[in-house]
Parts: sequence; structure tokens; C-alpha cells
Amino acid sequence: MRRPHLLTLVLVVLPATASAQASDGWRIHDMARPRPPVVTPTPPATIMPPPASALVLFNGRDLSHWVQWDGKPPRWLVRKGYFEVLPGSGDLQTMDSLGDIQLHLEWATPIPAKGAGQDRGNSGVFLMGRYELQVLDSWHNDTYADGQAAAMYGQYPPLFNASRPPGEWQSYDIFFRRPRFDETGTLLAPARITVLHNGVLVQDNVELLGPTSWLTREPYTAHPSRLPLKLQDHSFKVRFRNIWVRRLPEAASAPEYSGPQQLSEAEQEAYVGRYDISWGHAEIRLEGGQLVLDMGDGPIAIVADVQGGFWLKGVDAKLTFGRGPAGEVTGFSMELGGETWRYTRAR
Ligand code: MG
Repeated sequence: MRRPHLLTLVLVVLPATASAQASDGWRIHDMARPRPPVVTPTPPATIMPPPASALVLFNGRDLSHWVQWDGKPPRWLVRKGYFEVLPGSGDLQTMDSLGDIQLHLEWATPIPAKGAGQDRGNSGVFLMGRYELQVLDSWHNDTYADGQAAAMYGQYPPLFNASRPPGEWQSYDIFFRRPRFDETGTLLAPARITVLHNGVLVQDNVELLGPTSWLTREPYTAHPSRLPLKLQDHSFKVRFRNIWVRRLPEAASAPEYSGPQQLSEAEQEAYVGRYDISWGHAEIRLEGGQLVLDMGDGPIAIVADVQGGFWLKGVDAKLTFGRGPAGEVTGFSMELGGETWRYTRAR
């Protein structure tokens, strides 16, 4: 988050309202909030190459996927294999718009480290330009828990402080689901994020409380399903390299299944009995007016659909019953997962 000048800060009157409270009772930037335990990550490894299907946002050579926040050509500096914040130039953002993503990036804070608290190697990864995963030198550098490296700024401290020393390359692996809004702009589902910092789980599928803001809790406002990713110019020469994303598919929605057909109790009675298969048997019973199949692991309801087929309730398993000369049920076959099992009626 961009901080105002100190002068502005002291003039701000902080309302002690519920809106300034995190949902779990902690105040924003609560200095009493416990700092996460420190863990020592493995030493930085060689660069992890992106999967072949990834969209590579920085390959070590140029900023062709990026523009400044105002749409002008990138002013941040490309060095050997990485790029670096040009202090005062403003945020950098991708030309690609992104929604649900897996994102890998690596960053390093300046050496020698200067400043303390928030004023030490500060930058940030803004998902969709709105939701900040903090970048900060948190190596032996105390600050409020919800503002240290790998915090969802002002909302969630990381589970652990997995920071490496300044100057060393650190990694974020981010798994982000954007918020969902209906066509009227009402929030259907908040954004969710999981983050690994240097391979250590630090954000565990947390639900974001809204967009990142400064000392306030802003509500969600509807926005497009894809927006540029932003990196923050917080006036520190933070470096970045090896940035790639994979777009995540939406969960496929299920088709409408046809509703059940009501069979009379007498019609259902015709199926009740014991059925054998080479490795055992199954029972079809009537329980409380409901036909059930029990293959030894407990009863599963049998539903008759309006097309006249029989199914196990909630399962893609189709039952087809065989009939004898007098119309009596002689057995059934069950199609499940591409296999067909044939049961013969025993009684
Ligand atoms: Mg920041």
C-alpha cells in the first residue's frame, strides 16, 4: 500500500468504528497482533523454469508485457536477468488482464538494507490491481503483522515469516480466485488466495475482506473479471525476476438432471429382492417408501427419472432391469464409470 507522508498521517483521525475492525476482531495494523513464527526456508535455488503452458510475463530480458500505471512505456530498469523499481516512476502493470491465476514471481529487497518497519524494501503485488500481497524486507525487521512480507496487507498476516535476508531472491507462488459478482454488481463470493513464500505456506485459502485500502475497510465494488496485475513503486529499489502465470479454469457447472418420476409402492415392490454377482450380492429394499440398493456398504436411493431410466441418487450410475416372460424382474445391469456390472436375481 502506498503510504501518505507522515504529516498527513498524524492529521488523520482514526474512527474507532466497527468498519475499521477486521472480521476476526483485530484492529487494522494492530501492534498487539502476534507476529508469525519465523521459519528458515531452504536457500534460494536456481530459477524454477515456467511450465510450457505458462504466460511468461518476464523472461529476464525485456518489459514487453508491461506498462507504467498511466499506460506509458515502462520506466523501471531492466538489468541482467531481472528488473528493478525506478523510484518515483509509479506502479508497473501488465498489459495482459488476468482473473483466476496461478502466479510465480521472485523478488529481492535492496542491500544494504536501510530504514525500518514499513520503510524497508517495500513493494507489493496487487492482484487485479486491487488486492495487495505485501513485499517487504521482513528479515529481522519488525512491523505490524498484517503489513509484513507475505501479508495480505491490512487483512491477514502470513502464517509464518519465511523471509530470506535482503539481497537474496525470494519466491511467491500465488493461487488466486477473483471475487464473483452478479449482473447487478452484488458480491456473490469474495476473492480467495493461497500463497507460498519461499515454498512455505503463508496464506491458506483466505477470503479477502475487500480491496486493499489505507486504514479503512473498503467494501467490494464490482469490477471486470480480468484486470492487469500491478507491482508497486513504494520508492525502494526492489528487484523482480522469473514471473509467469497460468490462467485457472472456472469450475464446470453441472447440467440440469431430469427430475425423479414417482412410482407407486406396488410398482416399486416388483424390484425388491436379492441379486447375485460373481463376487457377492446386492439387495434392493423398500425403506420408508423409497427403493434402495445395498451392495454391502449401506443403502443408496434408487430414483426413476422421467425418461423411465433408473439411477442411483446423486451418482452417475444407471440401472437397467431385465424382465422375464411374465414381466417379472430377472436381474439388472449397472453402468458406472465406464464399466457394466450384471446382477442376476436370486429371490
Ligand atoms: Mg507494499
